[in-house]
Amino acid sequence: MSALDLLAKLTTTPGVPGREHRIRQLILDEIGAIFDEISVDPLGSIIAVKKPTPKKGKAAKEPLRVMLAAHMDQIGFLVSHIDEKGFLYLNPVGGFDTRNLFARMVTVCPNPNDPSKDLIGILNPSGKPIHVASPEERKRIPTVREFMVDLGIDKKQVDKKVKIGDMVVINAPVHHLGDLMVSQAMDNRAACWIAIEACRKLKNHSCEIHCVFTVQEEVGLRGATASSHTVQPDIGIGIDTTLAVDTPGVPAHEACTRLGDGAAITVMDSSAIGDYDLIETFDRLGKKHKIKTQRSILAAGGTDTGGLQRTAGGCRAMTLSCPTRYIHTVTETIHTGDIKACRDLLAAYLESAA
Ligand SMILES: [Zn+2]
Repeated sequence: MSALDLLAKLTTTPGVPGREHRIRQLILDEIGAIFDEISVDPLGSIIAVKKPTPKKGKAAKEPLRVMLAAHMDQIGFLVSHIDEKGFLYLNPVGGFDTRNLFARMVTVCPNPNDPSKDLIGILNPSGKPIHVASPEERKRIPTVREFMVDLGIDKKQVDKKVKIGDMVVINAPVHHLGDLMVSQAMDNRAACWIAIEACRKLKNHSCEIHCVFTVQEEVGLRGATASSHTVQPDIGIGIDTTLAVDTPGVPAHEACTRLGDGAAITVMDSSAIGDYDLIETFDRLGKKHKIKTQRSILAAGGTDTGGLQRTAGGCRAMTLSCPTRYIHTVTETIHTGDIKACRDLLAAYLESAA
């Protein structure tokens, strides 16, 4: 299996906030040989520890504790209502733009652990099709709560198979377009991949790495906040996707990042301002190891860095981001060169941190 095959598998394994069972198991299966200690905290975040392996001499008695936080949840829905005809209504967990939700196929997961129970459904807003809608009706953008899922089976069967609270995710395949890769859950399985592959390629490092695959980021950084209390890191690196709005119709000064220009060192977003010295260090390491980097500022939106930076007395923190086009749609798109740059830059940092 090539490294990017793992990314494809990560992005197509369902796991919405609070229902991360399957993606957690996939990551646990993958990381056994990479880390020294692995545990799952009460909320469901994976805390994987890699002990120092310094090149020369003994490890420091109290090595620098570096926490990586990559959220493993994706935006999706929980079933909120089953109507008298067997149509499902949904409650969002994470922020979809409803303009991207018309005429989609979805997967309903009645058992978070068992894919054999999954059902395929059609997602559409309730209401009239364009042929019979009035001009006013055509203009209005429905809210998430007006969308419904058609499972194609009768009400009796629906009641037998589906219950309130079941996870629903968009069903969309992975595509490779030149150097780009398209999938619905690059946010944030791209970061899970970066954390796994950076730790896999480490040779020697003096810090103690606490690699946390967090839960429930998309509903308010909940997993990262809890797990950073446990880890009490000296340094926190949030890893996430960030906007690449380098596409037509957006002025250059609002692009945030550009696909293909390298790993994004996030200076600030609405949840955290990155530690000045850490940002400088990542910049310097990029130059030293000839890894492409770009700086970015995200005007609105946050990451796990906002949760871990303020926990347990606080820590020095920043966000490493993978530039992504069309975030929070089902066509989240990354450049394979950028995601590899993120992996290499993170590994270079972990090998130098002490
Ligand atoms: Zn994210």
